[in-house]
Amino acid sequence: MKLVILGGGFCGALIARKLDKRKEIEITLIDKKTYFEYTPSIHKVIFDPCYLQKITIPFSYFLKRSRIVKSSLLQVTPEFVETEKEKIDFDYLVISTGIEYPIFLEDKKNVFTLKSGIEAVKMSAKVLDAERILIIGGGLIGTEIAGELATKTEDKRVIIVHPHDRLIERNPVKASHYAQNFLEKSGVQIIFGEKVVDHKDGVFITNKGRIIEADVGIWCAGIRWNPFFMKGFPKSVFTDKNALKVNKYLQLKGYSNIFVGGDINSIPEEKTAQNAEQHAHLIVKNLERLKKNRPLIAYKPRNGPLLISLGDWTGIMTFRRLGITGLFPGILKWFVEWWVLRQYK
Ligand SMILES: Cc1cc2nc3c(=O)[nH]c(=O)nc-3n(C[C@H](O)[C@H](O)[C@H](O)COP(=O)(O)OP(=O)(O)OC[C@H]3O[C@@H](n4cnc5c(N)ncnc54)[C@H](O)[C@@H]3O)c2cc1C
Repeated sequence: MKLVILGGGFCGALIARKLDKRKEIEITLIDKKTYFEYTPSIHKVIFDPCYLQKITIPFSYFLKRSRIVKSSLLQVTPEFVETEKEKIDFDYLVISTGIEYPIFLEDKKNVFTLKSGIEAVKMSAKVLDAERILIIGGGLIGTEIAGELATKTEDKRVIIVHPHDRLIERNPVKASHYAQNFLEKSGVQIIFGEKVVDHKDGVFITNKGRIIEADVGIWCAGIRWNPFFMKGFPKSVFTDKNALKVNKYLQLKGYSNIFVGGDINSIPEEKTAQNAEQHAHLIVKNLERLKKNRPLIAYKPRNGPLLISLGDWTGIMTFRRLGITGLFPGILKWFVEWWVLRQYK
């Protein structure tokens, strides 16, 4: 059986790892990188570029039988996948290429986004040199970056612009207030109810006409689904935002041999590493069941616990309406990083 996996992030790398020892499965993992990266800790790389080494693990380290192809994708069809180097056919396909974090500003000079460790390294020197830093968006990523800046620098002016009336607004109110108090006490200015809509030469403008001068902007506002490599598929497999529509078994709508896991699928739940891992576990089970002609298992969208760090030792853990704050979630965030990476080593 030929299995091709597109993207070696939380979903794809876990599927490859779980099936790597199976002699009857010929696995090809395609990724533009050669390593798995623990994204929940990449904000730490801004202050410590060497930390990148701790949170990345080469695919070759944990995949012994699978073929690893380092390439961007050009095209995916129901029969084959085309990379920059070759065409690869498959019996089963897993699409798990994640989402993009685009910057919606024309002038992107000194404006960064934090999607990967490499980008964190690129922005590191600029952020460390900057006196005024603007964080655009106070969701999970923006709040974590603000926590790093607030606890690791003293001489910088940090401003967050957030369109909602509280930070991390999809989480319990208690968690939002804790983050706001922590950051404001550490000197971060938070502007609620506004969006940054324009930028020119270090001057950022909000939709309410406010002008904010900053040496560096960190864009943490919005995600984009971009399965550009699937142009040959019918419109019915895409949502209006371009996420890939799946049935309850995580199969691409209308294609029983194509599974879609992780951020790129249309499951209505928070886009998190844990959820991507849950998709991976289910896809592995359903691949087995498909092969044996057994009924498939349905995925139940989850609302699992979420850990948000505010610097090295303070954090917030949210679960449904519950919010636990302080040192315990701070330590737990380290533990989870250690625990997840340990399984790849
Ligand atoms: C800064 C940051 C902080 C986060 N913090 C947390 C957190 O604390 N907790 C949490 O649970 N989640 C967190 N997340 C979200 C989490 O990282 C994602 O939900 C998770 O990575 C999704 O897994 P995935 O497998 O769908 O995609 P990804 O892990 O993004 O993997 C996609 C893979 O596909 C590859 N790829 C993409 N496009 C192509 C292409 N065209 N050709 C070839 N290869 C391609 C990429 O190189 C990548 O390796 C964070 C994300 C970011 C960016």
